[in-house]
This record gives sequence, C-alpha cells and structure tokens, in this order.
Amino acid sequence: MTERSIQTFKGVGDRVASRLSQLGLTTESDLLFHLPLRYEDRTQITPLNAVCPGKWVQVEGVVVHQSIRFGRTRMLVATLADDTGQILLRYFRFYPSQQRQLQEGARIRCFGEVRLTNAGLEMAHPQTQSIQALNTPLPRHLSAVYPTTQGVSQALITRLVNETLDRLLSGDLHLPEFLPPQSENDWSLKEALLCIHRPRGQENIAQLLDGHHPAVARLAREELLAHHLTVARQNQARSEQSAAVLGGDHVSAQEGIARFIQGLGFEPTSAQQRVISEIAKDLGQIQPMRRLVQGDVGSGKTVVAGVALVIAAYSGVQAAMIAPTELLAEQHHRTLCAWFEPMGIEVIWLSGKVTGKARERALSRIANGASIVVGTHAVFQESVVFQDLALAIIDEQHRFGVHQRLALADKGKHSGRWPHQLVMTATPIPRTLAMTTYAGLDVSVIDVLPPGRKPVTTVAMSQQRRDEVINRLSEVLGQGRQAYWVCPLIEESDVLEAEAAETRAKELAKALPLFRVALIHGRMKASEKQAVMADFVSGQIDLLVATTVIEVGVDVPNASLMMIENAERLGLSQLHQLRGRVGRGKDQAACVLLYKPPLGEMAKARLEVMRETTDGFLIAEKDLELRGPGEVLGTRQTGLMRFRIADLARDADLLETLPKLASGLSEEATQGLIDRWVGHAEAYVEV
Ligand code: ADP
Ligand code: MG
Repeated sequence: MTERSIQTFKGVGDRVASRLSQLGLTTESDLLFHLPLRYEDRTQITPLNAVCPGKWVQVEGVVVHQSIRFGRTRMLVATLADDTGQILLRYFRFYPSQQRQLQEGARIRCFGEVRLTNAGLEMAHPQTQSIQALNTPLPRHLSAVYPTTQGVSQALITRLVNETLDRLLSGDLHLPEFLPPQSENDWSLKEALLCIHRPRGQENIAQLLDGHHPAVARLAREELLAHHLTVARQNQARSEQSAAVLGGDHVSAQEGIARFIQGLGFEPTSAQQRVISEIAKDLGQIQPMRRLVQGDVGSGKTVVAGVALVIAAYSGVQAAMIAPTELLAEQHHRTLCAWFEPMGIEVIWLSGKVTGKARERALSRIANGASIVVGTHAVFQESVVFQDLALAIIDEQHRFGVHQRLALADKGKHSGRWPHQLVMTATPIPRTLAMTTYAGLDVSVIDVLPPGRKPVTTVAMSQQRRDEVINRLSEVLGQGRQAYWVCPLIEESDVLEAEAAETRAKELAKALPLFRVALIHGRMKASEKQAVMADFVSGQIDLLVATTVIEVGVDVPNASLMMIENAERLGLSQLHQLRGRVGRGKDQAACVLLYKPPLGEMAKARLEVMRETTDGFLIAEKDLELRGPGEVLGTRQTGLMRFRIADLARDADLLETLPKLASGLSEEATQGLIDRWVGHAEAYVEV
C-alpha cells in the first residue's frame, strides 16, 4: 500500500491539514518521523500511599466525594480513593461531562503531577480516563508526547501517529527499507520507529530524547544520506552545465586586475589574494563557478568581488552584484563607482526606488550591455533583461531566498550557458554545516583581517546602569569618535520597532545635549536613510540610533562604540554582525551589551560567549550548540537544508560514513530516499 495524504484521516479537514503542514506534516511518513518531545509512563499504577509531591504518576481508584467550590473561581474538586489512601483532584475549569465522569462511585484512572498543598496531596487537572473494570489493561509502552502547534491538539497528533504506526505494523503501510542494516544488531527502520514512538520501560529514555539512542541514529543516518544523495545529484547536473570562459590568460584581464589593485590604495591580505586566485581560476573554466566566500565582518569581501567584476568587464561580458538591503546596495554602488569609473567601466544602479525615466534608462543600458549592474533584489525582476550576464555576485547571501538567487541565475541562462555565481557571507559556517548545507558550493574562506585591526572589547551591563552607560558614551563622543546605539526588534512589528527607536533617540538627544544624535530605521524612505547614513559617514552625526537595519555591511571606520539594547534577546550570530560594525578603524573599539535582568541560563551563556571571543567561527559553533543549525543560517528564510531528525552538532561523525553508504545504493533506493526525506524540498536546496 502506498502512503496516504494526511487529509484522508478522520477528523482532518482543510483547516487542520494546513495547520499540520506548518508542523511539516503532510503525509504518513511525516507522521512517523515526527519525533516525541518526551514520554509519559502510564505502564503502571502507583498506589495512593506511595505517591510523592513533584512526581508524575498514574493512579487508579474510585471517586468517593465530589463537590463544586466557590472561591475566587468556581472549581470542581473530587476525592479519589484506593485501598491504600486518598488524593484530591482539582479542576479550575471544567465541563459538565467532566462532572459526570467524576460522579461519586465512578472508577477512574488519572495521570498527572502530584503537589503538596494545605489541603494535603493533590493533582490539578490530571488527564482522566473512566475505566469499566478493575482489569482494564495498561499500555505496555510509554506514551509519547509530540510537538504541536496552535489549533492542533496533542490528542489529535497522538491518534494520527498511532493509526499510522498500526498500519505499519499490520503491513497496510509499507515503508521500504532502502538502507540495508549496517551490522548484525543494527535496527531496521520499522523497529527504530516503533522504539521511538512506543518505547518499552526498559529503553534508555534519556538517550531517546537526546538523540543518542541507536534507533534515532538509524533515522538520522538515513536522513543525512538522503541529503548527501541530493547534493551528489545536483553536482552531477552542474558538471554538465557550461559557462562563458572569463579572464584566463587574456592579457587584458590580467592588466585590469593589476590596475584595479593599484587603485585600491592598500595591499590585499594574503587571504584575499588566495581567494582572488581561486575565483580567477573558476572563472576561467567552462563549468559555471558556484563559490561561497565566507569572511568575517570587515575581512574585505568586497575587494574580492571587485576582482571578479574586473575580470568579467575585461572579458566583455556583464556582471551583476546584489545586496539584501537598500543601504548596503548603495554602499556597494558608491564603492564600485569609485573603483570602476576611473577605469572607464560603466556601473548601473538599480533598486525598487529607481522609477520612471531613470529606470527606463537603466534598463536600456542593461539590455545594451552595460558592464556592471549593482542593486537590490529589484535586479531579479522579470522586466530586467541583460544582454549577456555571465557573472552574478550575491552579498550576504543568507538574507536572500533561494528563489531569488535562482531567478538571477536564470537571467544569465541563454544559449545553453549559465552564469558564474559568487555568493558572499559574513556568517561563519561551522565546518559540519559547510560539509552538508553547502556541499553544492565550493567554499573559500577569508580568514585574515586587514592589518591594524584591534579586537573589539565587549562588556555586558544591566540596562539599569544606563547612567553609567551614558557617561561612557559622552566620554567617547567627546573624543571626536562616533557611536551606534541599536534598539533591536522587541515586538514582531517594524512600526513598534521604529517607535521604540524614535523614543530612545529623543531621550538620548536630551541626555547628550552637546552631541548630534540622529535616527535611522527601516520605515524611513530610502532617500532619508541615505541622507542620514551619508551624514554619519562624513562625521556630521555623532551618535546614530538605529534598529537592526545597520546589521549588515555598513562601513564607518571612525565609529568605535556600539551599544546594543536587549542584547539577551538576540542570537549570537546577529550580535556578532552588529558588533562587527565597529573596530574597522585605528581606534580601540568597544561593544556594550545592555540586558534586562534577570538573565536566564541560556541568555547568560550567550552573553558570556560574546564577551570571551571575537572569533566568528567560534561564535558560530557556539550558536549551533546553543540554538541549532536552523537558527545559525536562518534556513527558515532561505530554504536551505533543514533536518527533521539529524542534528549536525550531534551527528557529525555520521557524515564521514555517507559516501560509502551512498556508493552501495541502487538507483531505486537512491530515488526512494530522496523522495522520503527531501521530497519537494529538493528544489530549494543550493543549486
Ligand atoms: P566585508 O568583508 O565586511 O564586506 P569590506 O569589504 O566592506 O568587508 O571591507 C571592510 C573595510 O576594510 C573597507 O573599508 C575596505 O576598504 C577595507 N579593506 C579591505 N581589504 C583591505 C586590506 N587588504 N587592507 C586594508 N583595508 C582593507
Ligand atoms: Mg560586506
């Protein structure tokens, strides 16, 4: 029997189905791979004289008394008794049906947490089941508790999973064993699933929950293998594509590079030089380049992109460079104009804000072969037609959707040719992630910072010490230096965020009357933002109060102090990006993380990491450890690989076994595994 869609289950209509799909549940195998959050032990009955406070127990007995009490609220109270003792059951909200279920004389089984109150031992809102006879059988395995979402009850998920498991057991649902057992005592897929959803009491539950149990490892291995196979297929498809051969031994391209570097006014670092030669080599191949350049904030990725642009321009083809925000794209535009106009290379600016005549002119220049186009995602739009786009560069690529990136690649796809693609990111990618998530890309790392940079000193301070903070700020500004004050997203709304930033800017302007304070946020017009930014760059503004719009890329070397409010709410990678805005000049820079006490354990650990290191890689590893891979890469936004069961921090050792496993598989098994684990997501994986 083939798999059914989730809608064929009783009680699952369109609405419930769409909610379930938010949990990633659309088919029967999705249900089987929906792992429990925890387990409840209902395999035994605890006698009432043996229950103790703080423990979750199952008890069974007869209701000997029931009453409704009127205190601040109406509540239902019942006394349950067995041969050994009594316990109070308390319900703050209740239905008439519950009242009937708890009639005096009724025999019931309750599962819940025991508490000690003035009234003695009691259970509040236990899960209650009526039982007909003394010997109603107990489950033989632990009961799984699953992740749910709003509008989807635990009971529903449990029923769906259980029905599917029953179908699996009866043979109505066939789940092919694509991956043969790895050893004599390796688990079959079916055994592994049964153990995970219905563990017997003797299983190592802690291991099941933390994923170190062999049953979970069996699934994780299969999932990682499926992703590995997907990437291998894509690599195969890639090797059959062709691209324009750029640069190579052309004397003119070499001259262009030399001229470009001479014009920079500084020597590229050894790391930049290495990455530049890797890119130049790629561009000279007939296969399209797919390269990711990873370099910490301030490591100088733009220069590297500049060389790729020069090579394209001198080879007579077009190149485009895209950034995720207007602010950052504008900064690139300024940089590229300064570099390329003296060299006689045309640079065209295109963003959503370019309209009317200006837009027509830009589009016409692009269609007629202008060498370099720089802009925002407006460049992806259908109406933008290139004459011969042969190189696409995407900055801060994790901010883009995969669709957008593919749309840009499509623009250069003509007469069987694909554009070379260069993507750049400041998000350090832990080694384990690079091996899988980016397995379809070649990775270059800029691991040396330009000379003269001093690591930013970081302190964490309670927001209650604001006066001290403002004194310090005033000192720094008094030395002619500049500073940022970041008020990050507090509410899930950029309106409220903008308001919070406005209020803060006013307060700070009042507290620092000698200095010029300005505000920048996402709801301002592009021209306003640009004007504020230009004033900050030229030193007309001392303190820039900002929302997280400044997060990526903005470069102001004289800014040496960064204050971040609500730092405890931000992820490590985001804090690292923000902190990277300072420390780009010659002065010793500092970052103050303001937090709202009391700090939770996790928040404390995160701020501690920020204080201890400025190494982006280490921070990314910690972020991965503390928050999981989805968060590090923002996979939710970008549709990069996501794992249901595998955990790259935990399962790193499995990765090495994949090539061998893959080589032994039939074509049918390969397709089966890809369909099972990657399925529709395949299109979203890095191409
Ligand atoms: P990011 O990697 O964060 O994009 P940028 O390319 O914006 O970094 O570079 C940050 C700053 O460092 C820029 O002002 C740039 O001109 C400067 N820079 C880049 N490379 C070097 C170098 N080799 N020597 C000195 N300064 C450099
Ligand atoms: Mg940059």
